[in-house]
Amino acid sequence: MKECNCDLRDGDAKTAVFGSNEMLQPAPVDTIPMEPTTPQIAYQMVKDETFAQTQPRLNLATFVTTYMDDYATKLMNEAISINYIDETEYPRIAVMNAKCINIMANLWNSPEQAKWKTGALAIGSSEACMLGGVAAWLRWKDKRKAQGKPTDKPNFVISSGFQVVWEKFAQLWQIEMRQVPLTLDKTTLDPEEALKMCDENTICIVPIQGVTWTGLNDDVEALDKALDAYNAKTGYDIPIHVDAATGGFILPFLNPDTKWDFRLKWVLSISTSGHKFGLVYPGLGWVVWKDKKYLPDAMSFSVNYLGANITQVGLNFSRPAAQILGQYYQFIRLGFQGYKAIQYNSMEITKYIHSEIAKMAPFVNYSDDVVNPLFIWYMKPEYAKNAKWTLYDLQAKLQQSGWMVPAYTLPENIQNYVVMRVVVRQGFSRDMADMLLNDIKNAICEFEKLEYPTPTRIAQDKNIAVKGTVFTHNAHSNAAKK
Ligand SMILES: *Cc1c(COP(=O)(O)O)cnc(C)c1O
Repeated sequence: MKECNCDLRDGDAKTAVFGSNEMLQPAPVDTIPMEPTTPQIAYQMVKDETFAQTQPRLNLATFVTTYMDDYATKLMNEAISINYIDETEYPRIAVMNAKCINIMANLWNSPEQAKWKTGALAIGSSEACMLGGVAAWLRWKDKRKAQGKPTDKPNFVISSGFQVVWEKFAQLWQIEMRQVPLTLDKTTLDPEEALKMCDENTICIVPIQGVTWTGLNDDVEALDKALDAYNAKTGYDIPIHVDAATGGFILPFLNPDTKWDFRLKWVLSISTSGHKFGLVYPGLGWVVWKDKKYLPDAMSFSVNYLGANITQVGLNFSRPAAQILGQYYQFIRLGFQGYKAIQYNSMEITKYIHSEIAKMAPFVNYSDDVVNPLFIWYMKPEYAKNAKWTLYDLQAKLQQSGWMVPAYTLPENIQNYVVMRVVVRQGFSRDMADMLLNDIKNAICEFEKLEYPTPTRIAQDKNIAVKGTVFTHNAHSNAAKK
């Protein structure tokens, strides 16, 4: 055959992707390539670099949605080009957003009478927490100014089980964070201890529904009651912002009688993650205020060209709209009963794993209660004394079968405890739970045959001997902050 003089390897429509020169070159790291390549080659390179490192549904570390049905996925993909902020171009999306806020406000028993409830769309709970926190800060500031009092030393009170966003809030806005320590006996925010940390400069108290570290709920009703007495005694009016990143979509469906929301006097704002148990792909968060009067004017922009007065609040300007379609789809598709069924299954499977873990000789659960679809456990101290392995070894072992089950140390005061956490989301069945439990049992069997301690065991023992503290594994402890 005659050689052709064209260079097929250059990357044109006829080039086989894996016969191209690009596939022999390293991918760009520092500078943009001089020349274009075909979309097929570019697609392949980017796709191959982002091969899932685990199966997302075997990732029991994350709280964030990893399963939506085909219609939801189609709907969101079709909306991928829509910028939420272009309200004039897509006014119906702004209205849909307002409907989602109404639905959530009513799930949380909002007393607001207006047709459109007061809330905001966010990229996740982080932005939603920031907005709730800033609103509390500005309200406090306005009041202090009106009284001619200084406004330079604001603080807020939260348990040491806070999610990292509250550290960001404190640092970015320069608001002091006062932490109520968690202990093994006091596993959630202690209202009395929280009030001891309050003063005239406290902008709000932040209880958490679904503490990231432990899965537990702070008792908002008890806090509200104690705070009511405290405010009456001191003349302050310190409010509550509830960080309900997880609980905001669990409690209304599974514990409708538990009072943690706008039924309580001092709860003025609530934030949640639409992309956690709201069952939408990332990034989606929501914040709702009890009434428009609690949203400072300085934060809100009203638009009236939609046939209604719609209030817009946010840190970002442009943002994807697809998540709003995803959330509204889920509300319509599932309805109250559908959400309840999914959250119920997640809870039942969590309780099942929780009870099976309790039966395993090496382990003890951190709490007997399972109030959200996640829980943590640790190694029994008496077992740990003679064990040749740690939970970090178990994490690594499970990873070999594709599971991501994080081991990490608890926050300050109880940082000596290495724990392991499982978050059960939609997409995780009882059958999968049995596979996980079997893998854990098999791993324990193997570990018990070890003749010599593993490196993490040696490091942990050394640390206990030298400092009286357990080995802290930084790379892993970050997993808890997700
Ligand atoms: C996940 C979480 C956050 C942060 O939420 P994102 O949606 O990831 O931004 C804040 N607070 C708590 C309690 C969380 O669990």
